[in-house]
Amino acid sequence: MAPALALSEEAPVSWAHRASKLEPYSGPPRNVQYIEELKLDESCRPKKYEIRGTHANSRILILDVSILDSTGRPPYRGDVFIEGRFSAVGTVPNKEELERDPNVRKFYGNGRTLMSGLGDAHTHLSWDGGDLSQFGSLGVEEHTLLTAKSAQCYLDCGYTMCWGAAAAKDRLDVVIRDAINAGNIPGPRCLANGKEIARTGGDLIPSITTYADGPDEMRETIRRHVDIGVDQIKLSMSGEEITETRAAQDCYFTDEETAACVDEAHRHGRMLCAHARARDSVVMCVKHGVDVIYHASYIDDEGMDLLESNKTKHVVAPAINWLIATLDADAFGYPKAKAEQAGYKKELDTAILGLREMHRQGIVVLPGGDYGFAWTPHGTYARDLVHFEKLLGFTAYESIIAATAGVAKLFMRENELGKILPGFYADCIVVDGDPLADLGILQDRSRLDIILINGRVHKAGTGRKKDNSSDYELNTSLFL
Ligand SMILES: [Zn+2]
Repeated sequence: MAPALALSEEAPVSWAHRASKLEPYSGPPRNVQYIEELKLDESCRPKKYEIRGTHANSRILILDVSILDSTGRPPYRGDVFIEGRFSAVGTVPNKEELERDPNVRKFYGNGRTLMSGLGDAHTHLSWDGGDLSQFGSLGVEEHTLLTAKSAQCYLDCGYTMCWGAAAAKDRLDVVIRDAINAGNIPGPRCLANGKEIARTGGDLIPSITTYADGPDEMRETIRRHVDIGVDQIKLSMSGEEITETRAAQDCYFTDEETAACVDEAHRHGRMLCAHARARDSVVMCVKHGVDVIYHASYIDDEGMDLLESNKTKHVVAPAINWLIATLDADAFGYPKAKAEQAGYKKELDTAILGLREMHRQGIVVLPGGDYGFAWTPHGTYARDLVHFEKLLGFTAYESIIAATAGVAKLFMRENELGKILPGFYADCIVVDGDPLADLGILQDRSRLDIILINGRVHKAGTGRKKDNSSDYELNTSLFL
């Protein structure tokens, strides 16, 4: 197998000092431009799936909301009218007439925030929060139900875009994506992945891994994944400390293998993403064109320079919550002292500096990641946004831009998803409060008063009775 390419552990990085202090910034969101300039490989444009099940005559009027449109413009007060997509935003020309129309469903916002549904760039719908090593013995039928449950959980949490980062069995992501699109089960817009591809001896969790060694086997595995209907390909390139045998700083792929994977996947119009904690794995991703780089914890100067000069072609999704939660997993039998000893504290500190520097240099960093493990349970997805603000130097609005317009860009549907603008799909949430003042409220499902996907009401009402106008009926049914 490929040698473990160990980095000299204390290799200094040129940004360490600069990034150790967060410079205060309160201007307009900088990543609007970073995301705009991103030009993902046109030949890998994902299929444009549509979700069925929205009634052709569905008309929804949401009045008096603070519109946080994800363009970078500050929130402003206004109304929206929805007919599958947003047909009017800000000012609704025939508002009085529509208010009187009994066939128009009306909601009164009273200044609540209307914003795009959120997106997750590193989703594992088929991780179920339990012991992942047991997945091998879990029946495919049971596993499919668990996967459907996670998909609904994402939507219940206001997430309308999930970019699959690997599935535990070959077709779990694929069938759930298709069932959501057919209108059969509730869930976000999904792009599906297959099992992660690792070399023999480079796997993280054997029961959820597809093994391939050398360029030829890897090409063959990718072709098989394409045949079963995945939208993107996952490479597991580096180690992970919790395995106790594969260090995060070790890279198991060779240049030849990485290049072959990119060539084969792109030839079939599929983007790739990679578990890439090690320095060498990040360098290989950029050199050979792996589109989405996960973690990137141990990026060094060479990797940063390469990434900076290729920043229009790559997205980094750190899945930073995994590192934070793993250092706080005593209750799950993984003591903090052990996690620190394994290297998670060091990795977190190192990763934070690198990610701050990426944000400073205009590299697109997106939230989402690795929810579905025992201590990163489904339903806690929006923790990422707070981490971005508190740790990585994003403003609250930049966190929201990344999670909305940023993930829409990764779907390559930035002209119809992720913003509150006329013509865009009505995938949106109405939040009781101001997320720009407190991103933490996005973790509180009871404050997501309305959730719409594809112009269809998934949820309206919290069951709370706050004042007369918030007295929505509680309705979580899919078809209305
Ligand atoms: Zn992952």
